[in-house]
Amino acid sequence: MGCSRVMAIARRCGPGATIARPALHLIYSHGAHICVLAAVQAEKIVSESRHVVCAHCGGVNRVPVERLGAGGKCGRCKAVLFDGHPAEVGSNEFQIQLTRSDVPLLVDFWAPWCGPCRMMAPAFEKAARQLEPGYRLLKVNTEEQQAIAAQFNIRSIPTMILFARGREVSRMSGALDAAGIVAWARQQRA
Ligand SMILES: [Zn+2]
Repeated sequence: MGCSRVMAIARRCGPGATIARPALHLIYSHGAHICVLAAVQAEKIVSESRHVVCAHCGGVNRVPVERLGAGGKCGRCKAVLFDGHPAEVGSNEFQIQLTRSDVPLLVDFWAPWCGPCRMMAPAFEKAARQLEPGYRLLKVNTEEQQAIAAQFNIRSIPTMILFARGREVSRMSGALDAAGIVAWARQQRA
C-alpha cells in the first residue's frame, strides 16, 4: 500500500527518525491519506501493549502484545511473567491482579479439605500451560482468604471464575479435567 513512498518521505524527516515514528510525524506535516494509514499502522507497532501483573511480586509490567508469549521477565523482580504454573494469591496480590491486569484472570477457588478441589489441581496446572499467556491462572484458598470468597459469594468449591478488566465474566462450579477447563475458558471469551 505505497509503503515505499511513505518510507521515501520518512527518510527526509531528518536524522534520528525511526522506522515507526516518521509516519506519526507525517500525519501532521503532510496529512495525505497514505500517510494516515501508515500512521495508524505505526501507532499499532509502538503502542499495542498490555499490562501484565507479575504473579510473584505484584509488579505491573507493560508488555507489547507480540511479546506476551516470548518469556518476558518482570521489570521489578526478574521472574518470568508466565511460567506455566497457576499462582496461589493472597488478598493483596489478588486485588492488584483484578484491578491492573489486562490479561483475563481464570481463578480457581479451592480449599485443602475439599477432595474434588485436590483432584482438579493437576488439571488446573496443566491448563495453565495451555492457556498462558492469553490468561493468568490464579488459585485462591478460600479457607485462608475468606474475605475474597465472601466478596464473590463462593457457595461451593471448586468454583472457577473468569474475570476480564476487573469484572466477573462467568463462573463454573464443580471439578473439570484440563481439556474441560481450557474449553470452558475459551468459550467464555468467544
Ligand atoms: Zn515481579
